[in-house]
Amino acid sequence: MGSGLRYPALMQEIVIQRPDDWHLHLRDGAMLRAVLPETTRHFARAIIMPNLVPPVVTAKDAAAYRDRILAALPEGATFQPLMTLYLTEGTDPADVAAAAASGLVKAVKLYPAGATTNSQSGVRDLTRVMPVLEKMADIGLPLCTHGEVTDAQVDIFDREAVFIDTVLAPLRRRLPELRVVMEHITTEEGVAYAAEAGDGLAATITTHHLILNRNHILAGGIRPHYYCLPVAKREKHRLALRKAATSGSPRYFLGTDSAPHVDALKEHACGCAGCFTATNTMALLAHVFEEEGALDRLEGFASRHGPAFYRLPVNDGTLRLVKRAEPCIWPEKIASDAGPVTVFNPGFPVLWHVLP
Ligand SMILES: [Zn+2]
Repeated sequence: MGSGLRYPALMQEIVIQRPDDWHLHLRDGAMLRAVLPETTRHFARAIIMPNLVPPVVTAKDAAAYRDRILAALPEGATFQPLMTLYLTEGTDPADVAAAAASGLVKAVKLYPAGATTNSQSGVRDLTRVMPVLEKMADIGLPLCTHGEVTDAQVDIFDREAVFIDTVLAPLRRRLPELRVVMEHITTEEGVAYAAEAGDGLAATITTHHLILNRNHILAGGIRPHYYCLPVAKREKHRLALRKAATSGSPRYFLGTDSAPHVDALKEHACGCAGCFTATNTMALLAHVFEEEGALDRLEGFASRHGPAFYRLPVNDGTLRLVKRAEPCIWPEKIASDAGPVTVFNPGFPVLWHVLP
Protein backbone atom coordinates (compact mmCIF):
# COMPACT_ATOMS: atom_id res chain seq x y z
CA MET A 1 0.00 0.00 0.00
CA GLY A 2 1.12 3.54 -0.61
CA SER A 3 3.81 2.54 -3.10
CA GLY A 4 3.69 4.00 -6.58
CA LEU A 5 4.86 0.62 -7.85
CA ARG A 6 1.47 -0.84 -7.14
CA TYR A 7 0.03 1.25 -10.01
CA PRO A 8 2.54 0.98 -12.82
CA ALA A 9 0.27 2.84 -15.25
CA LEU A 10 -0.54 5.62 -12.79
CA MET A 11 -0.19 9.02 -14.37
CA GLN A 12 -1.83 11.23 -11.80
CA GLU A 13 -3.62 10.97 -8.49
CA ILE A 14 -5.85 13.29 -6.48
CA VAL A 15 -7.34 12.91 -3.02
CA ILE A 16 -10.39 14.95 -2.04
CA GLN A 17 -12.58 15.11 1.05
CA ARG A 18 -15.47 12.67 0.63
CA PRO A 19 -18.06 14.31 -1.64
CA ASP A 20 -21.81 14.90 -1.30
CA ASP A 21 -24.54 14.96 -3.91
CA TRP A 22 -26.78 17.99 -3.38
CA HIS A 23 -29.54 16.80 -5.75
CA LEU A 24 -30.41 13.13 -6.02
CA HIS A 25 -33.40 11.00 -7.00
CA LEU A 26 -33.50 7.65 -5.22
CA ARG A 27 -37.14 6.70 -5.97
CA ASP A 28 -38.62 4.00 -3.73
CA GLY A 29 -39.10 0.23 -3.38
CA ALA A 30 -37.22 -1.99 -5.84
CA MET A 31 -35.64 0.98 -7.64
CA LEU A 32 -34.38 2.49 -4.37
CA ARG A 33 -32.71 -0.79 -3.43
CA ALA A 34 -31.11 -1.09 -6.86
CA VAL A 35 -29.68 2.45 -7.17
CA LEU A 36 -28.78 3.37 -3.58
CA PRO A 37 -25.42 1.48 -3.57
CA GLU A 38 -24.38 3.43 -6.68
CA THR A 39 -24.50 6.62 -4.59
CA THR A 40 -23.27 5.33 -1.23
CA ARG A 41 -20.11 3.91 -2.80
CA HIS A 42 -18.69 7.43 -3.25
CA PHE A 43 -20.95 9.94 -1.53
CA ALA A 44 -21.37 10.52 2.21
CA ARG A 45 -24.62 12.49 1.99
CA ALA A 46 -27.20 13.51 -0.55
CA ILE A 47 -30.11 15.90 -0.73
CA ILE A 48 -32.96 13.51 -1.52
CA MET A 49 -35.58 14.78 -3.93
CA PRO A 50 -39.18 14.38 -2.76
CA ASN A 51 -40.98 13.71 -6.08
CA LEU A 52 -42.28 10.24 -5.27
CA VAL A 53 -45.81 9.14 -6.09
CA PRO A 54 -47.40 10.42 -3.90
CA PRO A 55 -44.83 13.15 -3.12
CA VAL A 56 -43.03 13.64 0.21
CA VAL A 57 -45.07 16.58 1.49
CA THR A 58 -45.11 16.43 5.28
CA ALA A 59 -42.52 15.83 8.00
CA LYS A 60 -44.20 12.49 8.60
CA ASP A 61 -43.75 11.53 4.93
CA ALA A 62 -40.08 12.57 5.08
CA ALA A 63 -39.39 10.56 8.25
CA ALA A 64 -40.97 7.46 6.71
CA TYR A 65 -39.03 7.89 3.45
CA ARG A 66 -35.77 8.41 5.37
CA ASP A 67 -36.44 5.15 7.24
CA ARG A 68 -37.00 3.29 3.96
CA ILE A 69 -33.71 4.67 2.60
CA LEU A 70 -31.81 3.70 5.75
CA ALA A 71 -33.35 0.21 5.62
CA ALA A 72 -32.14 -0.16 2.01
CA LEU A 73 -28.52 0.82 2.76
CA PRO A 74 -25.93 -1.72 1.70
CA GLU A 75 -24.13 -3.57 4.51
CA GLY A 76 -21.51 -1.35 6.11
CA ALA A 77 -22.43 1.80 4.17
CA THR A 78 -22.15 5.11 6.00
CA PHE A 79 -24.53 7.42 4.23
CA GLN A 80 -26.78 10.16 5.47
CA PRO A 81 -29.89 11.03 3.45
CA LEU A 82 -30.70 14.74 3.78
CA MET A 83 -34.44 14.96 3.39
CA THR A 84 -36.53 17.56 1.57
CA LEU A 85 -40.22 18.38 1.44
CA TYR A 86 -42.22 18.85 -1.74
CA LEU A 87 -43.81 22.29 -1.64
CA THR A 88 -47.53 22.26 -2.40
CA GLU A 89 -50.19 24.92 -2.10
CA GLY A 90 -51.38 23.02 0.99
CA THR A 91 -48.01 22.88 2.80
CA ASP A 92 -48.27 23.90 6.48
CA PRO A 93 -45.56 26.38 7.60
CA ALA A 94 -45.59 24.97 11.14
CA ASP A 95 -44.96 21.42 9.88
CA VAL A 96 -42.02 22.67 7.79
CA ALA A 97 -40.57 24.59 10.74
CA ALA A 98 -40.85 21.58 13.05
CA ALA A 99 -39.23 19.28 10.47
CA ALA A 100 -36.34 21.73 10.08
CA ALA A 101 -35.92 22.23 13.83
CA SER A 102 -35.66 18.49 14.42
CA GLY A 103 -32.89 18.25 11.81
CA LEU A 104 -34.95 15.88 9.67
CA VAL A 105 -35.44 18.23 6.72
CA LYS A 106 -32.70 20.33 5.11
CA ALA A 107 -34.63 22.05 2.32
CA VAL A 108 -37.99 22.45 0.60
CA LYS A 109 -38.32 21.83 -3.12
CA LEU A 110 -40.33 24.05 -5.44
CA TYR A 111 -41.59 22.36 -8.59
CA PRO A 112 -43.67 24.52 -10.86
CA ALA A 113 -46.69 22.29 -11.59
CA GLY A 114 -45.96 20.07 -14.58
CA ALA A 115 -42.24 20.91 -14.88
CA THR A 116 -40.82 17.39 -14.64
CA THR A 117 -41.24 13.78 -13.45
CA ASN A 118 -44.09 13.56 -10.91
CA SER A 119 -44.55 17.33 -10.56
CA GLN A 120 -48.34 17.38 -10.94
CA SER A 121 -48.69 18.42 -7.28
CA GLY A 122 -46.36 21.40 -7.74
CA VAL A 123 -47.08 25.07 -7.22
CA ARG A 124 -49.35 26.94 -9.63
CA ASP A 125 -49.53 30.25 -7.78
CA LEU A 126 -46.57 31.38 -5.65
CA THR A 127 -48.71 33.82 -3.66
CA ARG A 128 -50.42 30.78 -2.14
CA VAL A 129 -47.16 29.50 -0.62
CA MET A 130 -45.86 32.84 0.67
CA PRO A 131 -46.57 31.96 4.33
CA VAL A 132 -44.35 28.87 3.97
CA LEU A 133 -41.61 30.82 2.20
CA GLU A 134 -41.72 33.57 4.83
CA LYS A 135 -41.32 30.97 7.57
CA MET A 136 -38.40 29.41 5.68
CA ALA A 137 -36.75 32.82 5.31
CA ASP A 138 -37.17 33.32 9.07
CA ILE A 139 -35.48 30.05 10.00
CA GLY A 140 -32.89 29.98 7.20
CA LEU A 141 -34.24 26.83 5.52
CA PRO A 142 -33.24 26.78 1.83
CA LEU A 143 -35.73 26.62 -1.02
CA CYS A 144 -34.50 24.39 -3.86
CA THR A 145 -36.03 25.49 -7.14
CA HIS A 146 -36.69 23.52 -10.29
CA GLY A 147 -36.20 26.66 -12.34
CA GLU A 148 -38.37 26.24 -15.39
CA VAL A 149 -41.68 27.83 -16.25
CA THR A 150 -44.25 25.45 -17.63
CA ASP A 151 -46.33 27.72 -19.89
CA ALA A 152 -46.94 25.94 -23.17
CA GLN A 153 -46.17 29.19 -25.03
CA VAL A 154 -42.59 29.31 -23.76
CA ASP A 155 -40.09 27.35 -25.81
CA ILE A 156 -38.55 24.50 -23.82
CA PHE A 157 -35.04 25.87 -24.43
CA ASP A 158 -36.06 29.26 -22.95
CA ARG A 159 -37.88 28.02 -19.87
CA GLU A 160 -34.99 28.49 -17.44
CA ALA A 161 -34.18 32.04 -18.49
CA VAL A 162 -37.88 32.98 -18.37
CA PHE A 163 -38.20 31.41 -14.89
CA ILE A 164 -35.35 33.58 -13.63
CA ASP A 165 -36.92 36.77 -15.01
CA THR A 166 -40.56 36.11 -14.18
CA VAL A 167 -40.46 33.94 -11.03
CA LEU A 168 -37.12 33.83 -9.26
CA ALA A 169 -36.04 37.47 -9.49
CA PRO A 170 -39.45 38.84 -8.37
CA LEU A 171 -39.57 36.29 -5.52
CA ARG A 172 -36.13 37.30 -4.28
CA ARG A 173 -37.05 40.98 -4.48
CA ARG A 174 -40.13 40.26 -2.42
CA LEU A 175 -38.36 38.00 0.09
CA PRO A 176 -34.62 38.77 -0.04
CA GLU A 177 -33.87 36.81 3.14
CA LEU A 178 -35.06 33.53 1.58
CA ARG A 179 -32.09 31.23 0.94
CA VAL A 180 -32.36 29.69 -2.52
CA VAL A 181 -30.63 26.92 -4.45
CA MET A 182 -31.13 27.15 -8.20
CA GLU A 183 -31.14 23.45 -9.01
CA HIS A 184 -29.41 22.00 -12.07
CA ILE A 185 -28.77 25.26 -13.93
CA THR A 186 -28.31 24.75 -17.66
CA THR A 187 -27.82 28.21 -19.16
CA GLU A 188 -25.39 31.13 -19.17
CA GLU A 189 -28.31 33.19 -17.80
CA GLY A 190 -28.47 30.84 -14.80
CA VAL A 191 -24.71 31.07 -14.28
CA ALA A 192 -24.82 34.86 -14.47
CA TYR A 193 -27.78 35.22 -12.12
CA ALA A 194 -26.04 33.06 -9.49
CA ALA A 195 -22.76 34.93 -9.94
CA GLU A 196 -24.41 38.27 -9.18
CA ALA A 197 -26.61 37.11 -6.30
CA GLY A 198 -25.62 37.51 -2.66
CA ASP A 199 -24.54 34.83 -0.21
CA GLY A 200 -28.10 33.62 0.23
CA LEU A 201 -28.17 31.97 -3.19
CA ALA A 202 -26.27 29.09 -4.75
CA ALA A 203 -26.68 26.88 -7.81
CA THR A 204 -26.16 23.18 -8.37
CA ILE A 205 -24.75 21.87 -11.62
CA THR A 206 -25.11 18.29 -12.84
CA THR A 207 -22.38 16.12 -14.29
CA HIS A 208 -24.23 15.48 -17.53
CA HIS A 209 -24.81 19.18 -18.26
CA LEU A 210 -21.02 19.65 -18.20
CA ILE A 211 -20.78 17.00 -20.95
CA LEU A 212 -23.86 17.30 -23.16
CA ASN A 213 -25.21 19.96 -25.44
CA ARG A 214 -28.44 19.59 -27.38
CA ASN A 215 -26.68 18.15 -30.43
CA HIS A 216 -25.75 15.12 -28.37
CA ILE A 217 -29.46 14.45 -27.86
CA LEU A 218 -30.79 15.29 -31.30
CA ALA A 219 -28.14 15.18 -34.06
CA GLY A 220 -27.73 11.92 -35.98
CA GLY A 221 -30.64 10.17 -34.23
CA ILE A 222 -32.52 10.82 -31.00
CA ARG A 223 -30.73 9.55 -27.89
CA PRO A 224 -33.29 9.05 -25.15
CA HIS A 225 -30.71 8.37 -22.44
CA TYR A 226 -29.42 11.93 -22.88
CA TYR A 227 -32.88 13.44 -22.46
CA CYS A 228 -33.37 15.11 -19.10
CA LEU A 229 -35.08 18.17 -17.65
CA PRO A 230 -34.01 20.85 -17.82
CA VAL A 231 -32.98 19.73 -21.29
CA ALA A 232 -29.35 20.31 -22.33
CA LYS A 233 -28.96 23.57 -24.28
CA ARG A 234 -26.60 25.03 -26.91
CA GLU A 235 -22.83 24.58 -26.68
CA LYS A 236 -22.27 28.13 -25.38
CA HIS A 237 -24.37 27.23 -22.33
CA ARG A 238 -22.42 24.03 -21.67
CA LEU A 239 -19.20 26.06 -21.81
CA ALA A 240 -20.63 28.61 -19.36
CA LEU A 241 -21.55 25.79 -16.97
CA ARG A 242 -18.04 24.33 -17.21
CA LYS A 243 -16.53 27.71 -16.48
CA ALA A 244 -18.79 28.18 -13.44
CA ALA A 245 -18.27 24.68 -12.02
CA THR A 246 -14.50 24.90 -12.32
CA SER A 247 -14.24 28.56 -11.24
CA GLY A 248 -13.71 27.83 -7.57
CA SER A 249 -16.68 30.05 -6.69
CA PRO A 250 -18.60 28.75 -3.67
CA ARG A 251 -21.84 29.72 -5.44
CA TYR A 252 -21.70 26.51 -7.53
CA PHE A 253 -21.64 22.95 -6.32
CA LEU A 254 -22.45 19.41 -7.42
CA GLY A 255 -25.99 18.16 -7.60
CA THR A 256 -25.99 15.19 -9.97
CA ASP A 257 -29.76 15.04 -10.47
CA SER A 258 -29.06 11.35 -11.08
CA ALA A 259 -32.54 10.13 -11.95
CA PRO A 260 -33.16 6.45 -12.69
CA HIS A 261 -35.87 5.32 -15.07
CA VAL A 262 -36.06 1.77 -16.41
CA ASP A 263 -35.02 1.43 -20.05
CA ALA A 264 -38.57 0.56 -21.11
CA LEU A 265 -39.67 4.07 -20.06
CA LYS A 266 -36.63 5.86 -21.54
CA GLU A 267 -36.71 4.07 -24.90
CA HIS A 268 -40.36 4.87 -25.45
CA ALA A 269 -42.57 6.96 -27.73
CA CYS A 270 -42.91 9.44 -24.84
CA GLY A 271 -39.65 8.80 -23.01
CA CYS A 272 -39.05 9.89 -19.40
CA ALA A 273 -36.61 12.66 -18.52
CA GLY A 274 -33.48 11.83 -16.54
CA CYS A 275 -29.85 10.75 -16.78
CA PHE A 276 -28.51 8.12 -14.39
CA THR A 277 -25.03 9.30 -13.39
CA ALA A 278 -24.63 8.10 -9.79
CA THR A 279 -22.33 5.26 -10.84
CA ASN A 280 -19.66 7.22 -12.72
CA THR A 281 -20.10 10.87 -11.71
CA MET A 282 -16.82 11.23 -9.81
CA ALA A 283 -14.72 9.74 -12.62
CA LEU A 284 -16.52 11.93 -15.16
CA LEU A 285 -16.00 15.05 -13.05
CA ALA A 286 -12.28 14.35 -12.72
CA HIS A 287 -12.17 14.09 -16.52
CA VAL A 288 -14.02 17.38 -16.97
CA PHE A 289 -12.03 19.27 -14.34
CA GLU A 290 -8.76 18.00 -15.81
CA GLU A 291 -9.84 19.16 -19.27
CA GLU A 292 -10.52 22.59 -17.79
CA GLY A 293 -7.14 22.66 -16.00
CA ALA A 294 -8.96 22.78 -12.66
CA LEU A 295 -8.36 19.45 -10.90
CA ASP A 296 -7.42 21.40 -7.79
CA ARG A 297 -10.97 22.84 -7.73
CA LEU A 298 -12.83 19.54 -7.89
CA GLU A 299 -12.82 19.23 -4.10
CA GLY A 300 -14.48 22.62 -3.69
CA PHE A 301 -17.21 21.76 -6.20
CA ALA A 302 -17.91 18.23 -4.95
CA SER A 303 -17.05 18.35 -1.26
CA ARG A 304 -16.81 21.86 0.21
CA HIS A 305 -19.12 24.47 -1.33
CA GLY A 306 -22.29 22.46 -0.69
CA PRO A 307 -21.76 21.93 3.05
CA ALA A 308 -20.79 25.59 3.38
CA PHE A 309 -24.10 26.69 1.86
CA TYR A 310 -26.16 24.17 3.84
CA ARG A 311 -24.25 25.07 7.05
CA LEU A 312 -23.07 21.50 7.58
CA PRO A 313 -19.58 20.18 8.32
CA VAL A 314 -17.35 18.91 5.53
CA ASN A 315 -17.26 15.10 5.55
CA ASP A 316 -14.60 13.09 7.32
CA GLY A 317 -12.78 10.67 5.10
CA THR A 318 -11.45 11.06 1.59
CA LEU A 319 -11.96 9.83 -1.95
CA ARG A 320 -8.96 8.93 -4.07
CA LEU A 321 -8.96 9.16 -7.86
CA VAL A 322 -6.19 7.97 -10.12
CA LYS A 323 -5.68 8.46 -13.81
CA ARG A 324 -4.51 5.36 -15.64
CA ALA A 325 -3.69 4.40 -19.18
CA GLU A 326 -6.73 2.12 -19.43
CA PRO A 327 -10.25 3.55 -19.43
CA CYS A 328 -12.52 3.21 -16.44
CA ILE A 329 -15.11 0.47 -16.96
CA TRP A 330 -18.50 0.71 -15.33
CA PRO A 331 -21.59 -1.47 -15.82
CA GLU A 332 -23.63 -0.49 -18.86
CA LYS A 333 -26.82 -1.11 -16.88
CA ILE A 334 -27.89 -1.48 -13.27
CA ALA A 335 -30.38 -4.29 -12.76
CA SER A 336 -33.51 -3.66 -10.71
CA ASP A 337 -36.61 -5.76 -10.09
CA ALA A 338 -38.44 -3.16 -12.17
CA GLY A 339 -36.05 -3.62 -15.12
CA PRO A 340 -32.59 -2.42 -16.21
CA VAL A 341 -31.45 1.20 -15.80
CA THR A 342 -28.85 2.46 -18.29
CA VAL A 343 -25.81 4.15 -16.76
CA PHE A 344 -24.89 7.47 -18.38
CA ASN A 345 -22.40 6.92 -21.19
CA PRO A 346 -20.44 10.10 -21.94
CA GLY A 347 -19.42 8.79 -25.37
CA PHE A 348 -15.65 9.12 -24.74
CA PRO A 349 -13.13 7.09 -22.74
CA VAL A 350 -12.58 8.19 -19.14
CA LEU A 351 -9.15 7.44 -17.70
CA TRP A 352 -9.98 8.47 -14.13
CA HIS A 353 -10.79 5.71 -11.65
CA VAL A 354 -12.16 6.07 -8.14
CA LEU A 355 -10.14 3.80 -5.87
CA PRO A 356 -12.09 1.70 -3.37
ZN1 LIG B 1 -34.08 16.46 -10.17
